[in-house]
Amino acid sequence: MPTRRNIYFYHKRDEEMMEKVSPLYNLAKEHDFNIVTDYRKANIIVSVGGDGTFLQAVRKTGFRDDCLYAGISTTGSLSLYCDFHLDDTAKMVEAMTYEQVEVRRYPTIEVTIDDQTSFQCLNEFSIRSAIIKTFVIDVLIDDLQFETFRGDGMIVATPTGSTAYNKSVNGSVVDPMLPCMQVSELASLNNNRYRTLGSSFILSGSRKLTLKVVQDGNDHPTMGMDNEALSIQHVEKIDVRLSEKIIKTVKLKDNSFWEKVRRTFL
Ligand code: NAP
Ligand code: MN
Repeated sequence: MPTRRNIYFYHKRDEEMMEKVSPLYNLAKEHDFNIVTDYRKANIIVSVGGDGTFLQAVRKTGFRDDCLYAGISTTGSLSLYCDFHLDDTAKMVEAMTYEQVEVRRYPTIEVTIDDQTSFQCLNEFSIRSAIIKTFVIDVLIDDLQFETFRGDGMIVATPTGSTAYNKSVNGSVVDPMLPCMQVSELASLNNNRYRTLGSSFILSGSRKLTLKVVQDGNDHPTMGMDNEALSIQHVEKIDVRLSEKIIKTVKLKDNSFWEKVRRTFL
């Protein structure tokens, strides 16, 4: 099926980068790939940069679950989303010429703000106070009032996002073969008046998490979807659940999740 070979490259368009990626374009052409400039026509989406670039590539192309994504690193080392070095063309050719490409599936989360705007995240949804004062969030699990959080903010991470922001606040690293989401605190206030669980917790893929921002004046937090800030400022209620849409990447010999964790952190 020739349409399976439509490839879209996502990267910076400055002169230096264009020079760096031109061998990639040639390689793709040599192997009978059809390079498309409209990502909607692509079956394969290749990001060239770092993990941050991969997150943007997925977001800007609309979290396509009918496409295969691949990350090519320009930083000199492989990372969580980048399985190819820019200059290791032999490995790319090997991947391109596989008869049947096996895929890895990464769960994503779906976030809905005030029952109106919805978006997906591949790493995490984050919410934090935009002022020096703490802010207060009621945390509900499947509509059960679970705790009242007071502090800097919270992070809801996907399994692949568990090694990013979530890890910096002592969250666990989660195997992406588990469809779930992890909730972590940012500097919660804990004393005789205010109490939260204090540790991160992991919710099954069938749960719904609701964050209700208590409207006490500090209700204009900063919200982030992966590496992009949300333009919405005022918020009352946030619902987070596992999305039905997954992100597919190429499964290679050396890129199991735990291989990635080892090469990145150990
Ligand atoms: P950035 O500030 O450059 O990212 C911080 C670092 O996280 C970069 O080294 C980035 O890799 C790496 N990274 C991204 N996704 C990762 C993942 N799933 N596992 C392990 N490392 C990962 O911003 P960015 O590159 O646009 O990345 C956005 C992400 O940064 C957010 O989604 C959030 O997870 C994370 N973040 C972390 C903190 C923190 O740890 N205190 C604060 C804010 C945001 P590259 O250099 O390859 O891009
Ligand atoms: Mn980055």
